[in-house]
Amino acid sequence: MIDKLESLLPKELEKVINKLQDILIQKEHSKGIIDLVINKERQDFYCPKCGSINIKKNGKYKNRQLYKCKDCNKKFNELTNTPFHHTRLNYKQIETAYECLVDKLTIRKSAKKIGVSTRTAFTLRFKLITCLKETKEKDKLTGNIELDEYYLSVNLKGTKKENMPRISKPRKKHGTGKSGISRHTICVTSGIDEKDHILLKVAGAGSVTSDMIKNTIVNKIQNSTKIVADCKSSYESVALENNWNLKQVKSKCYTDHEGNLANINSLHSELTLFLSQFHGVSTKHLQEYLDWFSFSKYQNYSVDYIEQPNSFEKNTVTKKTEIKYSNVYNNYSIFDFFELYNDYNYQPPKFTT
Ligand SMILES: [Zn+2]
Repeated sequence: MIDKLESLLPKELEKVINKLQDILIQKEHSKGIIDLVINKERQDFYCPKCGSINIKKNGKYKNRQLYKCKDCNKKFNELTNTPFHHTRLNYKQIETAYECLVDKLTIRKSAKKIGVSTRTAFTLRFKLITCLKETKEKDKLTGNIELDEYYLSVNLKGTKKENMPRISKPRKKHGTGKSGISRHTICVTSGIDEKDHILLKVAGAGSVTSDMIKNTIVNKIQNSTKIVADCKSSYESVALENNWNLKQVKSKCYTDHEGNLANINSLHSELTLFLSQFHGVSTKHLQEYLDWFSFSKYQNYSVDYIEQPNSFEKNTVTKKTEIKYSNVYNNYSIFDFFELYNDYNYQPPKFTT
């Protein structure tokens, strides 16, 4: 084809360029292209209901190939269960959505750029960052590792009024004496290794416990040589159980000869900056934002900026998500907000002494 182009006169070439431009615009605004993208990225194609690979083509609807499972009769198409199931977006809009994610634009700005409502923009963002879970699950920490906790307040953003636990005046704090970390604080366990692999997991409410460390960190650590953490005793007991070579240092100490927490501290500063861009992230969606943060950090040193939207697409487009427009504001976190705020609902007795 290139040889043929060489023989064209400038005027003829111009015609070809214009024609190509038309085709490109047409493709970009077509809705079917996402089917092709998904098809190209997908490694194995199986029934979304029963997982059988015994599937057959089952006609077309609006240019979309339909399939049917020979085992359970489930009818589906290329997009079923992917983030683009039931999408009304054309390919240009989908590409733009990925660009907005890479640039971490606010929902308002993303909505404007993609040309959709803010709710659609939020649903799309949440669908896509939910798809990063699978990629993040595979991450392990190896070699020299720093562990620490990150605390933030419960955020009920996006919770309907009727579902909001009533927050009245808190009771006086009973002297738990745990450095001011109340039960209404969310604890994120975190780790970073010498190769900059990151772990950020919503672990529970209140001060870090050895159970939280066990549940979120232990099976993520593989072949560690040294683990540096702060002086909390919760790390000590877990280290003993798992034969970690644990060095405990004062968390703000940068010069300890045993090691320091400089990398994890700077990770936390970056995380604070990231979360502040969205003017606070709802606790029920926090884990997905943490996954997004670590994924984008990883992208920043492994993929050229210009290629990042494409790489984001490759990592999410075939992944399964159950998020829909109608359930996007549900609570996906490990917390029951009513329980979390239980003692905040305490009503003081009417009589006073
Ligand atoms: Zn099936």
